[in-house]
Amino acid sequence: MLTIVGAQILDGKRIRDEILAELKPRIAVLAAKRRVPGLAVVLVGHNPASEIYVRNKVKACEELGIYSEKITPPEDMPTEDLLGIVEGLNQRPEIDGILVQTPLPRSIDSRRVLDSILPGKDVDGFHPYNVGRLVAGEPGPRACTPAGVMELLRRCEIPIAGRRAVVVGRSDTVGKPMAMMLLHQNATVTICHSRTPDLAAECRRADILVAAVGRAALIRGDFIQPGATVVDVGMNRLDSAAAVEAVFGAGSPKLAALAKNGSVLVGDVHPLEVAGRAGAYTPVPGGVGPLTIAMLMANTVAAAERHLC
Ligand code: NAP
Repeated sequence: MLTIVGAQILDGKRIRDEILAELKPRIAVLAAKRRVPGLAVVLVGHNPASEIYVRNKVKACEELGIYSEKITPPEDMPTEDLLGIVEGLNQRPEIDGILVQTPLPRSIDSRRVLDSILPGKDVDGFHPYNVGRLVAGEPGPRACTPAGVMELLRRCEIPIAGRRAVVVGRSDTVGKPMAMMLLHQNATVTICHSRTPDLAAECRRADILVAAVGRAALIRGDFIQPGATVVDVGMNRLDSAAAVEAVFGAGSPKLAALAKNGSVLVGDVHPLEVAGRAGAYTPVPGGVGPLTIAMLMANTVAAAERHLC
């Protein structure tokens, strides 16, 4: 087996800081012209993971000087009432971006709610109009996580054109837009999913492998072509000693982290095996995660520029 020595770690925090630093003068120009950008975040109910994501998004706004507003309807709010809230935000000129945090409670018609956001305020890039613009290669807000991956690849000078890219996962929010963005950069793209017969063989063909699955350490070392670039979008929480040891080995220092925090974060790529095979890879945490919020901020600033300039 060929072992790659000294794989490059693709540092998402560094790229996030670069992106945010570049946004600051653009926000200052907007503030000097008329007003700072405005983002409304709608968080329905009390999903603990969503509460953390929303807190981080609001914090990022505060640090950048973006106006933010958090709206927290109760879990049992009917779809019609939520549509009314979105419509109110659509009408308000000082709100440039609207984000409805998903997943929504099962009783709510998520598609209707997301589709009711004005495409010009859809900073998540999930509206069918903006998905269509992505497919057509027209400018517009792009889904934040795959857009962050593209920024990471560009800024780390990972070549894309002419290379074989494999995306594992076909969600509307990550896998599909990721594949389309790589295609637009002239990669030859394969999309894999739960019905793909020989996932390891498909992954081994990849010069650029993107894992967006939601299965801890599914992508093993032998799925990776030696020297490939591996991007791990997955964020999975291991909450038992057995699960932590299955990934990190018996007696791993991660057990102390489990005892302290109640869980250990792991991606979709095996964290120990990737380092010996990949030419470059994103760590978890500290890889793709920090970029998603940075791209949300970038989409909000771009929306404000479209509204104000
Ligand atoms: P999702 O909607 O659940 O989609 C998962 C995809 O993986 C589906 O297409 C599914 O295939 C496929 N899949 C599941 N098991 C598989 C298997 N054994 N082999 C091959 N494919 C399999 O998840 P998502 O929203 O795209 O998120 C994926 C991961 O990224 C999660 O861990 C999530 O937490 C993380 N995430 C991270 C960020 C970030 O900022 N870092 C942002 C978003 C998501 P089918 O379509 O056939 O079911």
